[in-house]
Amino acid sequence: MISPRTFHRLALALSATVVAGACHRGATATATATATATATAPARVAVVRTADPAKRGVPLSAFPRLVPLADHVYGYEEIRQPGFTTVSLIVVGTNGVLVVDGQGSSAATKTMLDRIKTITPLPLKWYVVGSDHGDHTAGNDVLPTGITYVVHKNSLAQLKRDSAAAPATRRVIVPPVAMTSDVETIDVGTMKVEVRFLGRAHTGGDLVAYLPKQRILFMSEVYLNRVFPAMRSAYPTEWMQTVDKALAMNVTHFIPGHGFIEDPATSREELVAFRESLRAVIAEVTRLHAKGLSVDDAIKQAQWGDYASWFIADQQAPVAVRKVYDELNGKLK
Ligand SMILES: [Zn+2]
Repeated sequence: MISPRTFHRLALALSATVVAGACHRGATATATATATATATAPARVAVVRTADPAKRGVPLSAFPRLVPLADHVYGYEEIRQPGFTTVSLIVVGTNGVLVVDGQGSSAATKTMLDRIKTITPLPLKWYVVGSDHGDHTAGNDVLPTGITYVVHKNSLAQLKRDSAAAPATRRVIVPPVAMTSDVETIDVGTMKVEVRFLGRAHTGGDLVAYLPKQRILFMSEVYLNRVFPAMRSAYPTEWMQTVDKALAMNVTHFIPGHGFIEDPATSREELVAFRESLRAVIAEVTRLHAKGLSVDDAIKQAQWGDYASWFIADQQAPVAVRKVYDELNGKLK
């Protein structure tokens, strides 16, 4: 069994020859890449495991792009600052389209709606708030009126606070009602989509979308693929438990809210790797806390190992230290 680290190095060496973004059916690779990838990971295309498009070998001109996941089901990868992907889920029903998570600006969400028109003439009918953060919701003012929103009560409360605090130039869309339980099933005609709250994670109201027939789970920001755990509004320990619940589900393909959409087998490996990054970050901060360090000293002394190379580690590591300190000090409610 090849170690992930060795595979990563191999993949890096191969990056020049692998066709960028080869992560779904119909993906192709050069003969060299295919031959070597077959030797290390049968029937899988070696890709660089990173959220960084440049390291992955995908030019920014490739975005936004639709990634077919199953019949009537697409991932949508668009680039956001500082240069990694924000992923939306698109499900085409018989009378309308369901979207989970938008993009970070009116222009970006408008571009997504235009791209959806290239695959179906059907109107948008449902919008699920997977993450209430602005990089997924700030463009929602261009969504059609009269659509059905699905949102967790904690995210609805957050959007209300954001709306109240927003400058006059920015309109925060606040859905009219929240879910009344932890599961809401939407029958879009072509399939059933189960919107589920698996527990608090990256926000207080993270929702995931489960397609039981296709065994696809769109995880929004519960799953950040090769992105340093971003904890500004997170519940660190509950986040790990929420990922565990996702891993225990009957799922073959896990789709992240940021970072690349992987092939099914890689998607599980990377979700396990992300879960491990949460555990490692919490463990490192707990170690520093136990030494009695101030939060500022803990930020200076933290050792992140390989996670220091994950996307936005510089920006997010101090945030994570503060959040885990809050949790350890009983300040997270
Ligand atoms: Zn986000």
